[in-house]
Amino acid sequence: MTSTEPVLSVSDLNVTFPTDDGLVQAVRGVSYELHGREVLGIVGESGSGKSVTSLAVMGLLPKTARVSGSVVFEGKDLLKLSEKEMNKVRGHGIAMVFQDPMTSLNPVYTVGDQISEAITAHHDVRRDVARKQAVELLDLVRIPNPQQRAKEYPHQLSGGMRQRVVIAIAMANNPKVIIADEPTTALDVTVQAQILEALQTAQQETGAAMVLITHDLGVIAGQADRVQVMYAGKAVEAGTVDEIFYTPRMPYTLGLLGSLPRLDIKSERLTPIAGSPPSVINMPPGCPFSPRCPLSQDICDQEEPMLEAGTNAGHFAACHFSEQVAGRDPADLFHPTSIDIAEPLPAAVNPGEEPS
Ligand code: ADP
Ligand code: MG
Repeated sequence: MTSTEPVLSVSDLNVTFPTDDGLVQAVRGVSYELHGREVLGIVGESGSGKSVTSLAVMGLLPKTARVSGSVVFEGKDLLKLSEKEMNKVRGHGIAMVFQDPMTSLNPVYTVGDQISEAITAHHDVRRDVARKQAVELLDLVRIPNPQQRAKEYPHQLSGGMRQRVVIAIAMANNPKVIIADEPTTALDVTVQAQILEALQTAQQETGAAMVLITHDLGVIAGQADRVQVMYAGKAVEAGTVDEIFYTPRMPYTLGLLGSLPRLDIKSERLTPIAGSPPSVINMPPGCPFSPRCPLSQDICDQEEPMLEAGTNAGHFAACHFSEQVAGRDPADLFHPTSIDIAEPLPAAVNPGEEPS
């Protein structure tokens, strides 16, 4: 982390969707700062508001969404920009990598053309120069035979290769921030580690900061500097990767850790969190995790805890009983399943290692 101004600063972001069933409170008071070259992991189960948060940052929410708070990038509040101004920010300032690469690629143009177009859109270079750079970018994200592949259409490439092309386009735009929303979720486990590596390359080559969004805490481990855990539209814990993995202070984070298969423990039981995330329509008062929380007391159903710093200034948790979480093993709190893991786990659960 640096002491300089953050490149991206999200403050008290709220996003609601009025629907026939009631008000969907998709994002509730989310704040984060992203500093230069930093990787922030955002993790949480499906429906916790991760994608809506990033879509709000990118100005890509549907018109029905009601948004408040601020998203400051290069001194400007993105929530106040016109569509034309936002178009400049997208791609050039902030690039996005989605779960499905086909949402970013055009099926009727070759991948080489799409990368060179991204280059010429932002730099005053000749077409043949851009084409050469496109091939170099494909090589950087480790696409074999880049010269040949540049002439192919997206459908001729595998899912993993398409995602590398999207990453190459992100690099071509030379962004300050890359937001990757579940970039490996749709891909085969053996490809996941390679995509994360390509993202690292993109980040290093461009000097961009990155927001890496995933439902899988395992993906974060080898990648992020800091982590923000989300639940029911809210950040419920935030800290360095070590704080989150070794001294979590929110029972939900401990639960996520317990449901994570680990390669460093031979035979181990998984402790999934029973139940499912709450609906974020017309939410009741209290802590949304309370119905699933083994530490829940009466107060948890009456008063939603604030995100507060503990003894470590940068480590925040939203739990009335965060002191009781310290040093606990997930299996103490949550009930382990009876199935022992005998088989070795797929490589992608530990993104630090290349699949063999
Ligand atoms: P995540 O990415 O963490 O899985 P999302 O950010 O996509 O979750 O969604 C957060 C919540 O907002 C979910 O309950 C989802 O159903 C709701 N939501 C997302 N988009 C819309 C929309 N356009 N209209 C109504 N509700 C929405
Ligand atoms: Mg999502």
